[in-house]
Amino acid sequence: MSELTANLVNIVGAGPGDPELITVRGMHLLAAADVVIYAGSLVNPKLLDYCRPDCEIFDSAGMNLDEVIAVIKDRHAKGKRVVRLHTGDPSIYGAIREQMDILEAAGIPFRVTPGVSSFCAAAAALKKEYVLPEVSQTVILTRMEGRTPVPEAEDIRNLAKINATMIIFLSVHMIDELVNRLLVGYPADTPAAVVYKASWPEEKQVVGTLADIAQKVKNAKIGRTALVTVGRFLGDEYALSKLYDKGFSHGYRAAKPE
Ligand code: SAH
Repeated sequence: MSELTANLVNIVGAGPGDPELITVRGMHLLAAADVVIYAGSLVNPKLLDYCRPDCEIFDSAGMNLDEVIAVIKDRHAKGKRVVRLHTGDPSIYGAIREQMDILEAAGIPFRVTPGVSSFCAAAAALKKEYVLPEVSQTVILTRMEGRTPVPEAEDIRNLAKINATMIIFLSVHMIDELVNRLLVGYPADTPAAVVYKASWPEEKQVVGTLADIAQKVKNAKIGRTALVTVGRFLGDEYALSKLYDKGFSHGYRAAKPE
């Protein structure tokens, strides 16, 4: 496989936690890597079992951007195969843009391999579909502002007015304030579910409504590494999909007469 041998820096999505949920390409890249820099605060260290025993491993949790870039540049210059391993999919709160821009400016070629984001693993854990006919056809991925701001127009209170399916990252530690803001737009009986460490052995789920989810989260002592999901997709009322409706024809299937 050319990407295993080319002198490219590979930015790889590790998936949500379960080592089987990295992509096949991601696994091959880890197996071929000379150097792996992984986000130790969230990436399951079991993924490093795919690496060779002599692979040089760095945990970026204790490194700043300059230090990460210094390692990438140095090892790349020595012809080493470098993998930058991010949790979930790197395009979602991965802070990869700044790394890619620096690599680009330095003339270091790189390639991105996507991963299974935790929001997909949460739906799988809940056994739900985020978009249901006549319930919601829109998924909002967002977060509350913490130490990092969020543009004002994207305040949860504004987004809540749409009543779409919403997945809130990085915010479970602020569950009371989050629920207060959600209640500006969603009725209090709107279902909500929190998934902690989706796909990890210690995965936990808390299911309720906006009226009781905050207390349930606190009772379960979930304070980090969780997603808050909100919307009637968690309920049981929806229209049937037209896609599989026998009276509905589309490009791949003709309608069957009654
Ligand atoms: N790029 C990652 C998100 C990184 S931001 C992705 O695509 O999933 C980190 C936040 O993601 C955490 O605070 C938490 O809200 C969420 N998260 C990451 N892994 C998770 C998991 N396995 N289960 C639930 N939430 C997770």
